[in-house]
Amino acid sequence: MRYLIISDIHANLVALEAVLADAQEFDQVWCLGDLVGYGPNPNECVERMQDLPHISLAGNHDWAALGKLDLRGFNTDAREANLWTQAELKPAVREYLQSLPTHLVQDSFHLAHASPREPVWEYILDAGVAYANFAHFQTTVCLVGHTHIPIIFELDEQQQRCDTWIPPLPESMPVGTRRMIINPGSVGQPRDGDPRASYAILDTELAQWSFRRVAYPVEITQERMRARGLPRRLIERLELGR
Ligand code: ZN
Repeated sequence: MRYLIISDIHANLVALEAVLADAQEFDQVWCLGDLVGYGPNPNECVERMQDLPHISLAGNHDWAALGKLDLRGFNTDAREANLWTQAELKPAVREYLQSLPTHLVQDSFHLAHASPREPVWEYILDAGVAYANFAHFQTTVCLVGHTHIPIIFELDEQQQRCDTWIPPLPESMPVGTRRMIINPGSVGQPRDGDPRASYAILDTELAQWSFRRVAYPVEITQERMRARGLPRRLIERLELGR
């Protein structure tokens, strides 16, 4: 099986289409949450996902768009974009988002939007936080999103610490027996200084991971955001990847 692993689409349909085209063939999409929030095409992104064989989690922005989270935890721009999203969502899209879990186990992989310890909110940004999270899932590998930064944390049980790898890696990485927390990065709002959409492919027949970036026409998404009156800082950050 060939799985397309994506996260944090954030209503950026142009970036999502670029990833789907670049990934070519896959059997199923695993989406780690935050389909909406920030971007201009929340309904279209959800409907595009529904066309595909997929599983998906809900993230904090999805919950906020459903009124399940207090927006006071968001910064001003995120709050403004989320209020716009709330008003925009079609009833059927709301119902779909409502049905999504924040974490699940699929084919012996643990999937969580933010972290296995705190699936909605915790940011796994460093090896210390990653190390603490290995006690909170049973599978060999856990997949997370939420930080919008592609990263791999590999557990070193003897040394009681994690090694950190930054994708994209020059070669594909074997699926081994090592315990890892893997973040494929963000499709719709990368924050590692590279504006290209980020994603991963898991090929269980070849037993390998590949981590990829694909350029997309950022200016089309920016123009759509301007037309919808979304916050300027959110529009500008897309071309910076920050
Ligand atoms: Zn996000």
